[in-house]
Amino acid sequence: MDDLKSIIRDVPDFPKKGIIFKDITTLLADAKSFQRMVDLLSHRYIGQKIDKVVGVEARGFIIGAALAYKLGAGVVLVRKPGKLPSETFSKSYALEYGSDTLEIHKDAIKKGEKILLADDVLATGGTMSAVVDMVNVLGGDLVECCFMAELEFLKGRSKLPQGKVFSLLKF
Ligand code: IMP
Repeated sequence: MDDLKSIIRDVPDFPKKGIIFKDITTLLADAKSFQRMVDLLSHRYIGQKIDKVVGVEARGFIIGAALAYKLGAGVVLVRKPGKLPSETFSKSYALEYGSDTLEIHKDAIKKGEKILLADDVLATGGTMSAVVDMVNVLGGDLVECCFMAELEFLKGRSKLPQGKVFSLLKF
């Protein structure tokens, strides 16, 4: 995994002074690394009959869609407010750099469907915790929250359902 980790770029003082941002666009842009990352993540869920992969705006869409394609699952979008055209369910949450709201179409998940959640980076866990709440309200059966990378020192996994968190690369 060290080769995949080393291709992720550190950007100091983004989006605020004192924060070292993990810029995963460098991994996405490298054909071999992107393919390997998707293969490794999707391998974990093959045979688990995932119905839908939920991707979190915006980088989670890329990972979520790639995983869904590999798993033969549908893709569900969790978006910032005002972007989804039909009836939505909203959830506000605290994040590393302030607070925000996310929305999901109310009919995007049916009761009992097996749901995999995907995002690029797990930081404080606020974002994914809001998505877990949304999936629970809609009656989805949460399989796991998966991430390309986890910033372990922020202890985000403590906000997520125990035993249902997987990250490929740990920092
Ligand atoms: P959390 O809610 O604090 O866990 O933040 C996670 C969300 O913020 C994810 O959707 C990430 O895309 C984004 N994020 C936070 N820190 C980073 C980072 O260092 N690199 C890339 N994305 C980040």
